[in-house]
Amino acid sequence: MLLTELESKKLLSQSGINVNETELATYRDEAISLSKRLGFPVVLKIVSPDIVHKSDAGGVRLGLNTPEQVGEAYDGILKAIREKYPNARIDGVSVQKMAPPGVEVIIGMYKDAQFGPVLMFGLGGVWVEVLKDVSFRIVPLTREDAAEMIREIKGYALLKGFRGQEPVDISNLEEMMLKISSFVEQNPRIKEMDLNPVFAYARGAVAVDARVVVEDNAQ
Ligand code: ADP
Ligand code: MG
Repeated sequence: MLLTELESKKLLSQSGINVNETELATYRDEAISLSKRLGFPVVLKIVSPDIVHKSDAGGVRLGLNTPEQVGEAYDGILKAIREKYPNARIDGVSVQKMAPPGVEVIIGMYKDAQFGPVLMFGLGGVWVEVLKDVSFRIVPLTREDAAEMIREIKGYALLKGFRGQEPVDISNLEEMMLKISSFVEQNPRIKEMDLNPVFAYARGAVAVDARVVVEDNAQ
């Protein structure tokens, strides 16, 4: 069973993993009032247990600056999804603040047939998708595992500060991976998960998207 971004973030934040505040709107005016409360610019995303890749489906609108833009995005997302996926169950549309730019990293987990839960770390975008520049360790992670996972990817230079950019908070990322490792240990029914992307900053890091898959028939 695929948990939505909202359900996944709720679960993760209960375990002390830093996710951005994300609210559910079920009608247009609610999306607008949530945007005003959170503060512009905001991001709107489709919330559906049947849609795995929200942007591919036309279900993500970034950098919305006014109530009008939010209203249009709300209608536009629902229209696009209903056209492309007429049978998808729709919970609503999530509203969250547009996060300041950071280095995008991915933290994932899957269950290996031999080793059990394995954590994956990599940089977002082409780094993972095209270059497969990722590192893996078996759960439970030690502090050394977390440190090595970050340092052994080829893109590590980007995290250390590149062309005058400030280095990202590596120890915070290590902490986040250790928390994810204990979260996975404490929740054996979790089959798979992805925090993609996590925005890493000079101070701290925050997951702006999350996807957790729970086993259907586990005891
Ligand atoms: P999906 O992976 O299902 O397509 P995401 O929620 O990851 O959808 O959104 C797609 C992309 O939009 C992300 O990779 C990220 O670059 C950007 N994005 C998503 N949420 C935010 C946010 N709150 N602030 C800034 N950028 C975001
Ligand atoms: Mg994503």
